[in-house]
Amino acid sequence: MLEFDNRALRELPIDASSANRIRQVFGACFSRVRPTPVKAPRTLSVAREVAELLELDPALLSSPELAEVFSGNRLLPGMDPVSACYGGHQFGNWAGQLGDGRAITLGEVTNRRGEHWEVQLKGAGPTPYSRRADGRAVMRSSVREFLCSEAMHHLGVPTTRALCLVGTGEDVIRDLLYDGNPRPEPGAIVCRVAPSFLRFGNFELLANRNEIEVLRKLADYVIINYFPELGAPSQAAYLAWFSEVCRRTARLLADWMAVGFVHGVMNTDNMSVLGLTIDYGPYGFLDAFDPNFTPNITDRAGRRYRYGTQPRVAHWNLACFANALLPLVGDVEGLEAALNGYAEAFRSAHERRMADKLGLLRFDDTELTPTGAARVTDTALVGELFDVLGATETDWTIFFRKLSNVGCNTGPGPEALEDAYYDAESVPREARQRLATWLERYRARVREDGTADEERKRRMDLVNPKYLLRNYVAQLAIERAELGDASVVNELLEVLRHPFDEQPEKARFAEKRPDWAKNRPGCSMLSCSS
Ligand code: AMP
Ligand code: MG
Repeated sequence: MLEFDNRALRELPIDASSANRIRQVFGACFSRVRPTPVKAPRTLSVAREVAELLELDPALLSSPELAEVFSGNRLLPGMDPVSACYGGHQFGNWAGQLGDGRAITLGEVTNRRGEHWEVQLKGAGPTPYSRRADGRAVMRSSVREFLCSEAMHHLGVPTTRALCLVGTGEDVIRDLLYDGNPRPEPGAIVCRVAPSFLRFGNFELLANRNEIEVLRKLADYVIINYFPELGAPSQAAYLAWFSEVCRRTARLLADWMAVGFVHGVMNTDNMSVLGLTIDYGPYGFLDAFDPNFTPNITDRAGRRYRYGTQPRVAHWNLACFANALLPLVGDVEGLEAALNGYAEAFRSAHERRMADKLGLLRFDDTELTPTGAARVTDTALVGELFDVLGATETDWTIFFRKLSNVGCNTGPGPEALEDAYYDAESVPREARQRLATWLERYRARVREDGTADEERKRRMDLVNPKYLLRNYVAQLAIERAELGDASVVNELLEVLRHPFDEQPEKARFAEKRPDWAKNRPGCSMLSCSS
C-alpha cells in the first residue's frame, strides 16, 4: 500500500522517553508520539500529484480508510510516528526549544524512483513540544496550508507539498484576533509531504545546548542523504553545504519576491535546510504593490517580516544558521564568505526574475549602447517601476499579467494596464503621466532586444501568473469548507494547477481584492492563531 523506510529514525538519536507530556528533550532529534484520534474524520480534498509521488494505492484514495489514516486514527504497517525537536529565533530573539507542537511525522515513504518522502500530519494532537497549545489545527489554517503548498509548487516555487485535507469532526477553540473572544471552530488536519522538514532551528538548538556530537550526526545525515554530491562529511563538506543552503535560500527568496509572496513568520524555525517554503501560517500575496505589506497582525507593530525586508531577514536567519554550524565548520571567514555569497546570489536571481517578468532577454546594466549613447540601466528601469507602482494602489499580479499586452511600437499602451489600478477614477494625472513615461522607456528597452510582441507575450505569460491563492480567494474556500462543503477547495486546487493559463471561466478568482475583503479578518489580517 505504502512502502516505508524510516531512515532518519535509523540514523539519528531518538528521545528515550515516549511519554506524551510537555518537556525539554535533550540529546535527541525526535520523540516518538502517537497521534490523538479524532471523532469523525472525513476526506475533503486530495492532491492527486502528491498521491502519485507516494505511489498511493488508487483503491485507498477513494476509500473511507484514507480519512482514518491521514487523520492519525489508524497507523499503517511501517509507520513510526515522531515529532521533531528544534529551537529557533522568533522575531529576532532566541526562543529556546520549540519543536513540532502539532506536527507528527508518520514515516518516510519510498517510491520506485528510490525517493524518500516524509509524510507528516499537522493538527493530529499534542506532542512533547506542544508547550501551552493543543496540537490541533483549525479548518481555515489547514485549507490555507493545503492549497498554498500545491499552488506554490505549480507556480514553480520550491515548497513542501500537501497530500490531503481531512476534517476532524471536532471543534477547536481559537481566539482569532487575540482580542479576548475565543470561539469554537471546525478542526482539520493537513497531511504534508517533503523530502525532509528539517529547519535551521534543528541545528540551532543542538548548538545552543552544546550537544555537538548530535549536531554532527544530524549534519552528516543531511549531507549524506540530501547533498550526496558534496562527498563524505568533513569540515569542507559542512561549509559547502552551508554555501548551498545560502544559494537555495537566495533563489527561494527571489521566487517569493517575484510572485509577491509574504511568508509572515520568517523565524529560523520556519526556514528549511533544503531551501523549501515551509510552514504556511499568516502568509499573504501582495494585492497592491507595497514594500511595507505584512499579512501577520502579530507583525503589524514592527513589520519585521514585511514584503520588502524578506531578503534581508533570510540573510539574518542564515547568519543564525552559520553560528549553529560553526562548531563543525570551525572557519569563521569561510562562513562569512558564504553569507556574502547569499547577497550576490539573491541579487542575480532577483534580476533574472525581473528580466523574465518584463519579458527581457537578460538583465542588462551596461550604461552605453553599442554606438556609445547613454542608456537607462535595467536596475534604473526596475527601480522606477517600483516607484510608479508604489505611488498609486496598483495590483502587482495584474500589472505584470497585463503588461504583456502592451505593444512595443504600436498596439495598446497604458490603457492595457487600467485594470491593475484599485481605484482607477482617483488616480492623479501626474501618476498616469509617470506610468506613461515609464512605459515609453520600457518599450524602448524591449525594442533594444528586438523581441516581437507576440513572442514577448508568450514568454511573459509563462512567468507572470494569472491565478494566485490570494487571501480573499482562500477565504471563499474556507467559508464553505467550514460548513462542510469542500467544493470550492477542490475547484481552487484545480484552478491553481494551471496558474499561467487564462481559464476564462475561472476569472472571478483572478480579480483584484474586492472591497469586502479590504479590512476583513482572514483577508487583510491574519494571526498565528491557527
Ligand atoms: P509557528 O509560528 O506556527 O511556526 O509555530 C511556532 C511553534 O509553536 C512551533 O513549535 C509549533 O509547533 C507551535 N505551535 C503552533 N501552534 C500550535 C498548536 N495549536 N498546538 C501546539 N503547538 C503549536
Ligand atoms: Mg513553524
